[in-house]
Amino acid sequence: MLAGADELRSQVARLGRELSGAYPDGVLLVAVLKGALWFLADLVRSVSVPCAVDFLAISSYAEGTGRVRIVKDLDCDISGRDVVLVEDIVDTGLTLAYLLGEMERRGPRSLAVCTLLDKAARRIVPARLDFVGLRIADEFALGYGLDFAERYRNLDHIVAGDLSRLQQDPDAHVKELFPG
Ligand code: 5GP
Repeated sequence: MLAGADELRSQVARLGRELSGAYPDGVLLVAVLKGALWFLADLVRSVSVPCAVDFLAISSYAEGTGRVRIVKDLDCDISGRDVVLVEDIVDTGLTLAYLLGEMERRGPRSLAVCTLLDKAARRIVPARLDFVGLRIADEFALGYGLDFAERYRNLDHIVAGDLSRLQQDPDAHVKELFPG
């Protein structure tokens, strides 16, 4: 187990307090779909200042290259606003670097990053992470929004999956993790 449900609850509550302290006048949280949705939903309920949300969805051109494109853009204009990009996990940092470049071009007043998980061991490009839930080792995380082939997102905790087994069979962990 990488993070139990209680641990996630307390880290999310801490992040909510940190965001509330950093943005007393309110903040716009921009979540990256789909993985960050579960985290965002709990995070907003821990934020005690005015808080708006918006969503971006991205898709990789090719797995592992970090080359992504926006397939669903924001609904709102972020220029002049205090924006926090909310990520489920920062791994190589390539996705984040692309998204920060995209957001920066739009002229927010400030732009920060809040990630639930930081897998620093695999970083390729430096990432400035302003708010971090948990630092994890180089494991393939599943649950609380994190998927493999759209499975496992609905776990209330985070486990380490066996990537080589999952690549053979995406349902490899289903029986043990969803005993029914
Ligand atoms: P990056 O390598 O660009 O930092 O991360 C790209 C994306 O890969 C993340 O947003 C996430 O969707 C996916 N990813 C990276 N590490 C993991 C992991 O351990 N588990 C899962 N389920 N997805 C991951």
